[in-house]
Amino acid sequence: MLGRKERGQQELFITGSLRGLIPDDHVLVRVDQVLDLGWLRAEVADLYCADNGRSGIDPEVAMRLMLAGFLLGIVQDRRLMREAQVNLAIRWFVGYALHEALPDHSSLTRIRQRWGADVFRQIFIHVVRQCQAAGLISTETVHIDASLIRANVSMDALVSRHLDAVEAAHDDANGAERDARTSGKFKKLCRTDPDATMATSSKAPLRPAYKQHTAVDDFAGVVVDVEIVTGEEHDTGRFDERLEAIEATLGVTPGRITADRLYGIGRIYAALEDRRIAAVIPPLRAPRRKGAQGFPTERFKFDPHHDVVRCPARRRLTPRNVTKSGQWYRADRHDCARCPLKAQCLPRGAPSRRVHIVTNHAAILRARRKRLAWGKDGHAIYTRHRWRVEGTHGTAKTLHGLARAIRRGLENMRIQALLTAIAMNLKKLAAAMMLLLCSIIEMRAVRPNPAAA
Ligand code: SF4
Repeated sequence: MLGRKERGQQELFITGSLRGLIPDDHVLVRVDQVLDLGWLRAEVADLYCADNGRSGIDPEVAMRLMLAGFLLGIVQDRRLMREAQVNLAIRWFVGYALHEALPDHSSLTRIRQRWGADVFRQIFIHVVRQCQAAGLISTETVHIDASLIRANVSMDALVSRHLDAVEAAHDDANGAERDARTSGKFKKLCRTDPDATMATSSKAPLRPAYKQHTAVDDFAGVVVDVEIVTGEEHDTGRFDERLEAIEATLGVTPGRITADRLYGIGRIYAALEDRRIAAVIPPLRAPRRKGAQGFPTERFKFDPHHDVVRCPARRRLTPRNVTKSGQWYRADRHDCARCPLKAQCLPRGAPSRRVHIVTNHAAILRARRKRLAWGKDGHAIYTRHRWRVEGTHGTAKTLHGLARAIRRGLENMRIQALLTAIAMNLKKLAAAMMLLLCSIIEMRAVRPNPAAA
């Protein structure tokens, strides 16, 4: 039968609490069961004046408001507070009754400025340790990757600056040497967000961006580390620093690190070997210029003990000038002149052959040998790298608003990345707790009750 609903509502007052109106499987209800912010008040107490000014928003309420936004994908403060006015679940989650006035959206901005990224990092570490205590982190394998995040600037806000002027402003203050190759060139800068820099990747066009370094534990996909840098910084630029941060957060050294080919350089392999961490990282091929002639560098054998290189004709190449990334070695011109392989080895017109050996070359050779012996396990774990850490970036961007920065500046971007990671970890923790509860209920239902017997 065709139904009819009277839309006129007579009742203003209802009995019961807001909780009774929110479904049990709502994300905020589930997260509330695992969220522990009791310690936060003491942590931020020093940032507030003890005996002056009007009392501010309860730190737990502020954090719950921000978390509700990131959990529901409403990351802009104005939109969040507009939604909170009418959303029963958000009101209940932050502890505000229907008649209570919610804080103004600008209060959240001031709270973020007052706390800084350090407080959010403490909250992130606290949640990671909760996940660890719940058995969601194994530390056996940690996947590392970097992803670009579009900065919150218009392309119209880009200006070209002479690189000499840019370097003079940034490097000369630190006493850095000017690179002669970049002299006389121009660089694009963001006027409205100078921290964002032009960056591109295989998946993204050139645009103003930040870069997020992410580490994800393999067992349940918990994010164990996040850091934000400017877009142009290389993926490997903070590798050692982030490894130390992961160790400090988890309290143990991961057994194995996976990363993509961009991380397959000597410095990374050497850093992992020093820490006795296994690497599942495909080695980067030695760069070879288009049209380069002669045997590739791989055909030359480096002997680090005697600091010489042996060529395919078993002749010695001796060390020459040192570069930023390694050292050049050159063969004796008399050896090359009478060598039967010179037609295949020497570039046209060169009197002798020279090769560039990168720092930690021996570590790369070991990595190449290990790569050949990866076997089924190695390939399986590298496949997991793809969907674990790249999947985490995808989820953060599609469900939690990390596709684009919501505010400007490195500090604000760090806070956004940390809040996203906190929200994602809390969802995993809540889901695991729910699963545990269900299995306990199931076990009780199956097992006969001895009291009843
Ligand atoms: S050309 Fe020179 S460097 Fe090349 S194989 Fe012969 S001796 Fe060695």
